[in-house]
Amino acid sequence: MLACTGIEYCKLALTETKARARTVVLELERRRPDFDAPVAIHVNGCPNACARTQVGDIGLKGMVHRDDNDELQEIFQVHLGGSLGATPGVARKTRALKVTADGLPDYIERVTGRYLEQRSPRREFRDVGAPRRGGRPAMTAIPAPNRSAEIEAFLAREEATTAYADKVRLGRDVLAWALDRYGDGVTLASSMGDEVLLHLAGTSAPGIDVFFLDTGYHFAETIGTRDAYEVILPLKIRTVRPRESVGQQDLRFGPRLHARNPDLCCRMRKVAPLNAALEGYAAWVTGVRRADAPTRAATPLIEWDARRGMLKINPLVGWTHDEVDTYAAAHGVFLNPLRQLGFTSIGCEPCTRPVGAGEDARAGRWADSDKVECGLHI
Ligand code: SF4
Ligand code: SF4
Repeated sequence: MLACTGIEYCKLALTETKARARTVVLELERRRPDFDAPVAIHVNGCPNACARTQVGDIGLKGMVHRDDNDELQEIFQVHLGGSLGATPGVARKTRALKVTADGLPDYIERVTGRYLEQRSPRREFRDVGAPRRGGRPAMTAIPAPNRSAEIEAFLAREEATTAYADKVRLGRDVLAWALDRYGDGVTLASSMGDEVLLHLAGTSAPGIDVFFLDTGYHFAETIGTRDAYEVILPLKIRTVRPRESVGQQDLRFGPRLHARNPDLCCRMRKVAPLNAALEGYAAWVTGVRRADAPTRAATPLIEWDARRGMLKINPLVGWTHDEVDTYAAAHGVFLNPLRQLGFTSIGCEPCTRPVGAGEDARAGRWADSDKVECGLHI
């Protein structure tokens, strides 16, 4: 444990450091008497790094923020995975993960406990306690400083909502709240196959930032749908592309990578550009619904995207397929023309086919393999 001088001696300090560090150590000793992990925790009293946050397994940078009662509260920005050991590395800022001073013992116990459970001679703390970009999410509960009474109220309301009209109202309210609360810090990910979400956003949160991931493999109809939405609703649509064109990817990996290694293709053409498009945002909005796939069955209205360190808001999460159709018909929603050809779920052209009668709505996605997700939402 390493702590800078903190508020006692430093004029720049925003938080206590040594007292916080002492509490964490004492609590860990009390709660985990078997704790013997070589985990270095570095605590700074401000966003500077006198205690060398960047090379601690866990680095904590002190800050203050106003809580729901408008009172100043000490919080710590978490950095994970630094090391001065055999393989030195710089800790990665877990962008929006901030822990209250009082919550530090719980947080440290949780993240070090995970390491104790999973460690092996070949697995350092940063392989377990602090997954690298692209690893599995560290946690999905919304961290305390990022929760608010409004979020709690939305979650409770969603749990109690069953009627179609209430779901529509809830979707509208959460979108309007997201824009009001986060402004330019919220963005909506659209595949142009989620037309009801676009309509709901354009009519409830006008001016909201929207990004469309142009993988280079989209149907012409999908590109046309983007062009239409740019003019029919007040949405700020930006198009995001992968670093490499399809041609460049073909040169590096050979043609039709999607047929040989769709996971790699999706990582390069969807997940990497999506991560880049979300940089700097505090929250993103998606069209994920629980009814889409078993992998989505437990999705809440608002969740914590731990891998990207931001809130994820799913306004349609509880809607059924029929309710989506009902809304589209009732509001004259402009639909991707592929709908008329039997495409119930729309993705890249090589990996999407229309579905037949009685088939699952997503049966046409990666129909020739057991792949069910592109990796954006898991
Ligand atoms: S990290 Fe900040 S609070 Fe701590 S000694 Fe350095 S400047 Fe002061
Ligand atoms: S859906 Fe298919 S073509 Fe599109 S990125 Fe994934 S594997 Fe590649």
